[in-house]
Amino acid sequence: MAYKRQIDRLPIVPKDAKEFNVTCHYCIVGCGYKAYTWPTNKQGGTAPDQNKFGVDLAKQQPAETPAWYAPAMYNIVRQNGSDVHIVIKPDKDCVVNSGLGSVRGARMAEMSYSQQRNTQLQRLTNPMVWRYGQMQPTSWDDALDLVARVTVAVINDRGEDGLFVSAFDHGGAGGGYENTWGTGKLYFGAMKVKNIRIHNRPAYNSEVHATRDMGVGELNNCYEDAELADTIVAVGTNALETQTNYFLNHWVPNLRGSSMDKKKAEFGSEPVARRYRQCLRSRGRQRECDASCDQLGLRPCTIQRVADLHCEQGLDRQSLHRSFDQKLR
Ligand code: SF4
Repeated sequence: MAYKRQIDRLPIVPKDAKEFNVTCHYCIVGCGYKAYTWPTNKQGGTAPDQNKFGVDLAKQQPAETPAWYAPAMYNIVRQNGSDVHIVIKPDKDCVVNSGLGSVRGARMAEMSYSQQRNTQLQRLTNPMVWRYGQMQPTSWDDALDLVARVTVAVINDRGEDGLFVSAFDHGGAGGGYENTWGTGKLYFGAMKVKNIRIHNRPAYNSEVHATRDMGVGELNNCYEDAELADTIVAVGTNALETQTNYFLNHWVPNLRGSSMDKKKAEFGSEPVARRYRQCLRSRGRQRECDASCDQLGLRPCTIQRVADLHCEQGLDRQSLHRSFDQKLR
């Protein structure tokens, strides 16, 4: 963000700053954050009794201290009619993310509506169309005319079954209404399209369509299960990119073997030492996960236990059945 380049200091969160527990609104991981606000004409001090962190900020802080925040976690916003400093930083005590942020959640303050910092200019106020090599703002009439012309051309060429809409659909923090009301009215109400898919799925369906087909419903585990699981199955996903802190805070300890004590406590006398670090992945967007495993030093210890499945389109269900039969027994 241009307004924060060259910045060399940020205000210290004062002891009496207002404190709020907030949940990241970007993805379903639901990481916990702390939001602090205080008047713009005040700030805390370095002494432990002068700042919200309760530590001596005049001294070098240890590695992984929660007593800091980044420029991206800061902004000036309106609260109850007044300008206030705002800091939104990951909550170390939240069991979901344990203080981890991501490139999305850790910028919630920066992306907050702020007339002081001009972030209101980044709000989407016009339809955007890809023209001349970049997204260009245009009028609603122009945008809808384009949708109509493309739609008619596709239907004339391939019939209504040949028309397939790819739509964004996310619901965090009330965004479901803002994000899907217009497209829902257009595609379902006005155009009555037969085929539509959501941003990360092959149809308007569950994120784990193949397992649902075979009788295993989605979202039936808690995050801690990823630290305890014998085998993690990832189908067509890139967990680092799409569920960042679920991957980093719960998968990685299991893949690394650092959740062994937890496993032993959970499984009692069952042999857990030989039952970890298996990961089945269907071929898809796994490269970012691979890269992060490399950086975390996981490749050497996991590579023999990582199986890449080369799924043909439409064969997810059969592939999963076969892999469960052959690999998991
Ligand atoms: S993983 Fe990132 S985007 Fe998702 S909830 Fe956590 S901080 Fe937000």
